[in-house]
This record gives sequence, C-alpha cells and structure tokens, in this order.
Amino acid sequence: MPERTESESRKLLRRLRDTLATTGGGQDRLDRITHLIADSIGTEVCSIYLFRDAETLELCATEGLKPEAVHKTKMKLGEGLVGRVARTNAAVNTADAPSEKGFRYMPETGEEIYSSFLGVPIQRVGEKLGVLVVQSKTARQYSDDEVYALEVVAMVLAEMTELGAFTSDEDGMRALHRQPVLLRGGTGQEGAAEGHVWLHEPRVVVTNPVADDPLTEIDRIREAVGQLRVSVDDLLSAESLDKDQKQVLEAYRMFANSRGWLRRMEEDIQSGLSAEAAVEKEQSAARARMDQVPDAYLRERLNDLDDLSNRLLRILTGQGQDTGAEMPENPVLVARNIGPAELLDYGRKLRGVVLEEGSVGSHAAIVARALAIPLVINATRITSEALNGDHIMVDGDQGIVHLRPEDAVASAFRDKIAMQAEAQTRYASLRDLPATATCGTTIALHMNAGLMADLPSLVGSGAEGVGLFRTELQFLIRNKMPRRAELATLYARVMDAAKGKRVAFRTLDIGSDKVLPYMKPNDEPNPAMGWRAIRVGLDKPGVLRMQVQALLRAANGRPLTVMFPFITELGEFQQARSHVLREIHREKSLGHIMPESVEIGAMMETPSLAFAPKAFFELTDFVSIGGNDLKQFFFAADRENERVRRRYDTLNLSFLSFLEQIIKRCAEFDTPLSFCGEDAGRPIEALALAALGLRSLSMRPASVGPVKALLRRVNLQEARAVIEGARDRGEESARPALMEWLSRQQG
Ligand code: PEP
Ligand code: MG
Repeated sequence: MPERTESESRKLLRRLRDTLATTGGGQDRLDRITHLIADSIGTEVCSIYLFRDAETLELCATEGLKPEAVHKTKMKLGEGLVGRVARTNAAVNTADAPSEKGFRYMPETGEEIYSSFLGVPIQRVGEKLGVLVVQSKTARQYSDDEVYALEVVAMVLAEMTELGAFTSDEDGMRALHRQPVLLRGGTGQEGAAEGHVWLHEPRVVVTNPVADDPLTEIDRIREAVGQLRVSVDDLLSAESLDKDQKQVLEAYRMFANSRGWLRRMEEDIQSGLSAEAAVEKEQSAARARMDQVPDAYLRERLNDLDDLSNRLLRILTGQGQDTGAEMPENPVLVARNIGPAELLDYGRKLRGVVLEEGSVGSHAAIVARALAIPLVINATRITSEALNGDHIMVDGDQGIVHLRPEDAVASAFRDKIAMQAEAQTRYASLRDLPATATCGTTIALHMNAGLMADLPSLVGSGAEGVGLFRTELQFLIRNKMPRRAELATLYARVMDAAKGKRVAFRTLDIGSDKVLPYMKPNDEPNPAMGWRAIRVGLDKPGVLRMQVQALLRAANGRPLTVMFPFITELGEFQQARSHVLREIHREKSLGHIMPESVEIGAMMETPSLAFAPKAFFELTDFVSIGGNDLKQFFFAADRENERVRRRYDTLNLSFLSFLEQIIKRCAEFDTPLSFCGEDAGRPIEALALAALGLRSLSMRPASVGPVKALLRRVNLQEARAVIEGARDRGEESARPALMEWLSRQQG
C-alpha cells in the first residue's frame, strides 16, 4: 500500500475513533461517520446499511442520498447490489451500477445520478452485520487501494457495531444480542429445555480496533505470533502423538509459520488497525473463503487458520478459555461443534445443547442422546448471536431454539415443558406394569444404552433389560485405544448396574459415521456401505478378540449376551461366532471363571440377511433388527442426509411387509427376534411393529413410558387388521389408517 494512502487511512481511522468517543446517540454517530468517510475518501455518497434481522438490511445513515430514505429503505439479503455484498461477503466494485446484474432501483434514495458503486461487507469473523457503501457520479472503478481502505474502515465499523456504538434505546435501535431470535436447526435429541447460555468457547471482545502507533502494534503481533509458534511446537513435541496426529499438526504449524499471514496482518496494522483488529480482519477473510471452498481438505486447512486466529486473539487480549465467568444456573451449552469427550465432561449438569454444526450421527449427538439431553444441531449463527447467560429455550423435538424469547413465547414454551413433565409422571405410574395390550399379548420393552451414565435409567424407565449396549462410545470418547482391563472393569460395572437383567453387548460398530480419533480415517467414497462394523472386526480381529475377552472376564460367572453389528451373510456370522468360541476356550484354559451361559446373536441391518440360508437362523441365538440401518438400505436413503432421511415412512407398507417376512422366518426356526432401531421408541411405529408380531422392542429409556402407555390401550389384532386393510386397499403407508383407527379408539 503506498505511504500516502497508508497515512490517510490511519488519519481516517483516528477520526472515526474520536467520533465514537464523543457522547451522543447511535444515530448521531452513524451520521457523523458517513459524513467523515465521504469527506476523507472524496466520494459524494457514503451509506451504512445494517441488519435489522437475519434477512433484512436497512439504510441506517447516509451522506449524499436523500435523508428521508434513512430507516425507510430496506432490502433482503441477496437483493440488489447491497444485498449481494452481504450475501457473498465480498466487495462489489462497479463503474456503472445501474447496468450491473441484480441492481435494484430505489427511487426514494435518489441514487440514480450516481454511477459508480463500491460496497464492502461489515462483518466480524463470519458474522454479517451490514454493508458500507460509497458512490460517486463519475463513472469509475475504484482502485484496489481504495477497496482495501474501505475494508479496513468496515472492519472498525464491525467492531463498533459489536460493541453497541450505534444503538441506543432512544433511537429505537436495539443493540445486537438483545433482540429475541428464533433459530431453526435440526433435531439431534428430542426433549425441551429452558436455561441460560453457556458458551463452550466465549467470544473474544476487542475494545480497541484503532491504534495510534503501528510500530508498537507490529511488535505486539510479532511477539504474539512468536508465542503461538512456540505453543504449536510444544504440541508437536508431545510424545504421545502418533504419525497421523503429527501430520495434522505439521500442517497446522505450517500455517502458524506462514509469512504471508503475518505480512497481511502487518499491512492491516500499517493502515491503522490494532493488532487484534488485524487478526480479526484476516480471520473474517478466511471465513468468507471457507464458505466458498467446496474442497473438504482446503476447508479443513482454512479451519486451522481460524483456530490459530482464535488462539492469537486470546494471546493478544489475555482473554483465555476461562474468562472467570460463572456457569449460569440450568446451563445450555452453545458451541460451533464439540467433541464427545468434552461433552461428557459437562455431563448431566447441562439442560440442553445447541450446536452450530454437527449431524445426527455425530459423536456429540450420540453422547447427547445417551445423556438424554435435548440437542439442536445446525443452528446457524447461534455462536455469534448468543452471549453467556442469555435466556434460551431449546426445542429438541422441532429443532428450534428461542434465544432471549419474548414473554409470550417463553410462557407457551413453559406450557409445553409442563405437559411433558406431566406425561412423564403419568408414565412413571406405569413403570412396574407390563406392556400388555388389551388382547392379552405382552411386549417386552428393553432400553438402548451406551454409557455407564445410562444405566441408572434402567430402574426408572421400567425397561426389562438392555436390548442394545453400543460399545463404541467407550472407544470414541478417548484419544487412545482402551485396554482390555479397563473395558472389563467397565463392562462389569454395567452388568452390576443392570442387577441381573439381560444386557445385549454389541461388539464395536465403527466405520461409517463413527470414526475413532486414533484410527486412520479411511477415505471411502461411501462409508455407510463401506468397511465398517463386523467387516472391520473380521479383517482386524485383534480388537474384536480383546473386546470378547473383556466381556467374558466382566461376566465372571454371570450370563453373557453378545451380538455382532451389520452381519450381511451367514459366513460372517459363523466367523464372528467362532472368534467368541475360541476366546471362551482360551479364557477357560487360562483358568478364568466362565459365564453361566453365553448367547451369541446377530443384528439384522442389511436386507440380505433376511434371505440368509436357514443355517443362519438355526445357528444364531437371536436376531435383533437394527432398524436405522435396515431402513436406510431398504429405501436406499442415507440416514445422515437431511434431504432424504425422512423421505420414506417407516410405516410404508413395502417396508412393513419386509419386516413381516423377517418375523416369519425367525418364527419358522424359533429364533428369538427383537427390534432395536430408533423406530421402536416411537409409539405409533412401536404399535405397528407389535401388531406385525414383534414381541421385544428396545428403545431409548425416555421412550419406554410413552410406548408402554399406548400399547396398553390397544388391541394388537385389530391394529394388524387395520394395517392389512391399508395394504389391501393399495395404500402406500399404514400411517393414515392407523392414526384414524387410533383417533376412533380415543373417541
Ligand atoms: C440400527 O442401525 O438400527 C442400530 C440400532 O445401530 P446404530 O444406530 O448404532 O447404527
Ligand atoms: Mg446400525
């Protein structure tokens, strides 16, 4: 940047800061700032548009356009050139605005006489705050230096907006982070919760975007980058790192050492920004690029840069992870994303969790489910909107978050929570009663679990045992492979907690969405159909054997139930089973006490197993239908993909007919059968499964009450007739008929 522009830019930033330091309302400041910018840059027009809600930009101040347009002219994100700047987070620079694609004529502004247009986003680390625009009559393209200078000014405006400099209640402009916000995300775990925000990573507050002395700031940034490099080197020299972790950290170090990064920040400082604001300016630019990069690897690298920038800001401001803030009452955790181990550390003290990213199958979601904490995922903007302590309501059923809700919303939401609590009390009264339908058939209800923490629910839920214990969670929440003795202790505690009730331990189901942090991820084109679950277990039997040994030792004379995930053909089951038999033999020869009995079963999660030879049904001690996977393969609809995962109804009659065939085949060989996918915990689905002939269902503990309550009210033979009627009439799904029948029952 040439020296002349540099010092002018510094002068402008200083004048901006001085304007801010004066007393006066937000509007007054905005007016003076637009005047100041137009004056120093030498353009006829300078306007500031700010977001009034997530979708709407409003002209909040202008020098040059008609004053009566202020607070009148509004546009949607993406609308017109201003909306385009905001949507793309990138500058628009044109000599002939009216002929530019997307130009929208706003007659009330009188802008038609201005030909050239330069707009830059006002954004703070990915958070869109508004757009800063200059316009002039002469048709000319603004130079790179001018674009850069305006971006620097926009950076300072962003910091000021964030600090509330342009909002004051007397102007009727409510500050950011004070308005009620409704965010729509996805369901990670059902349930409703009310509490206060607890940010996993509190935001760094920058109070000094403008600095007088570039040399001091350059010293500060160099020193901070130096410290950052040392800390990354320290990470790298840790002995426990394996090759892959080292590789990732090497890439991270490369960024920390990047000269380009430091040089760009030094240039920002030269133009008048403080060291902190310079870091944020580059971080914002990287975030904007990140949104545009389709390549996962490159996005990951930009993520590294984002992470490094956060560390650098913490070094510069001295604001650590631990800000000294106290965790509020009824904390609701808010984070971009969180690892399973970190989430477990917070444990049950959390009322709810809201993630900006995440997916239904993410490890955090698995843990939240195990802890029965309502979780909303993909809540875009939550980390930039929420502040520690904010009032928040989480609706895990609908995937909705109310942040700082209005009183009316809060009270409606509380009614919902109260109704759920009331229902829970009703269910508690059924706890010791069997799930016997009015026709006299009893369905055994079991619960799914995956953590020690789940086990206390076994007594409270009224479940007869654990129909599915997902053992992968112990593997996922550590950073190294657990040892046999650790696992044996844990499994023994699980059996102790079950107090003699049956626990079906499923051997490790990794691969697909469940990737162990210490195992090299396989770059598979389609991991759900890839090298996962028992396929990994059979190809690398060391872990499978170790797990079986741990289970045998944990049982220590008690009955043991083991099942294998994702069995696709008879041969796989035979092989897996023979590993168990071999371990029994080996443990016996080592003098260990053997379990009183060992049941070895298979999960039916791929359609092929339904057509396995009869030898399979004779050999296996039981079959458990993994409905989540079975359904995704039956309908060829990825259970992780929001676009398709709810597309096909579980009560689709083709699927129900398929389940019926499985039930028939098992009955033919007296092979005990149960169902342990999520659908078992949905009352209407559970009713359909029972009506088809399933006599054992396993579900999350909170579902046992609602499922039992419904089953006890209905006649399963009649329900079956309703399903058959729908099939005879050629209907696609049995749901409408079942719902109609149920509503008549109530009436
Ligand atoms: C299933 O697929 O239905 C199942 C119970 O296993 P998971 O959800 O762990 O894949
Ligand atoms: Mg499965």
